[in-house]
Amino acid sequence: MPLRILVCIKQVPDPEQFDRMTLDPVTGSIDRAGIAPVTNDVDRHALEEALRIREALGGSVTVLTMGPPQARKCLEDALAVGADRGVLLCDTAFAGADTLATSAVLAAGIRSAGEFDLVLCGNESVDGATGQVPAQLAEALGWPRVTFARKIEWVQDGRIARVEREIEGGILRVEVGLPAVIAVVKRINRCRLPTIFGILEAGKKEIAEAGCSDCECAGLAAAAMGLGGSPTRVAGIFQSHRKRKVEMIGGDAKEAARALVARLREMDAL
Ligand SMILES: Cc1cc2nc3c(=O)[nH]c(=O)nc-3n(C[C@H](O)[C@H](O)[C@H](O)COP(=O)(O)OP(=O)(O)OC[C@H]3O[C@@H](n4cnc5c(N)ncnc54)[C@H](O)[C@@H]3O)c2cc1C
Repeated sequence: MPLRILVCIKQVPDPEQFDRMTLDPVTGSIDRAGIAPVTNDVDRHALEEALRIREALGGSVTVLTMGPPQARKCLEDALAVGADRGVLLCDTAFAGADTLATSAVLAAGIRSAGEFDLVLCGNESVDGATGQVPAQLAEALGWPRVTFARKIEWVQDGRIARVEREIEGGILRVEVGLPAVIAVVKRINRCRLPTIFGILEAGKKEIAEAGCSDCECAGLAAAAMGLGGSPTRVAGIFQSHRKRKVEMIGGDAKEAARALVARLREMDAL
């Protein structure tokens, strides 16, 4: 069965430049100025999985992001790798959203973008890093969800996904019927690179834009979007400064182990 797949991708500050990131002590927000934006790495793996499913079962791959106008770039990159079309959810009404408001807008954006059988997400972003969006998005859509997916197999002509989930100390195998939201981990696959042909073709593909009114048409009240729709409040924020010190402990293995235990006790670390 051909699947209509939608992949949620998020633009994040380049983790290579995280050391240049600062926090605003008043608003509690991250100052991203001057840090190059990139696609959240695990979302590239979600896209790769979608392309593999399309190759195996047929169908289409739509990529969607909620973000500022410059988030269009991560959609263009996804189109160059092989996605069929992009959707940019962009509106000042979405600014300041916590994970609940983000998920609500993503769900409304998905509903207004068309009919889908499967939504793939990354399991966690590298900046917000809550891992809450996939579950909240599934809830908003009224669909089942599977997180921490490291392998997906298709049975019953693509109507049921057999998923291996990474759990602490093992693997959990579950089956889920479509439509569903599946959040993947990086281990699921190796991402392909865009080809020259792919980059040239990307320019011909559509990136649709949707805003507050489109989400309202899809049934989401404006009050549920952005900062106003966010029950989370940042109570405080601080930048941690790690102090590192090296102490060499000499002697044979037994003496060194005893000295190490004594030192850790002294430091109240045992
Ligand atoms: C009060 C408050 C205000 C905030 N204000 C801002 C703000 O002004 N600007 C800002 O950038 N952040 C803001 N944030 C952070 C923002 O809430 C999170 O970045 C966002 O909700 C996603 O959460 P996450 O990164 O933890 O996603 P996770 O749950 O870790 O992400 C998992 C997956 O969900 C998908 N996903 C997540 N976000 C998006 C997205 N935007 N588009 C498409 N797919 C997505 C991706 O597939 C991703 O891999 C604010 C947070 C709070 C609490």
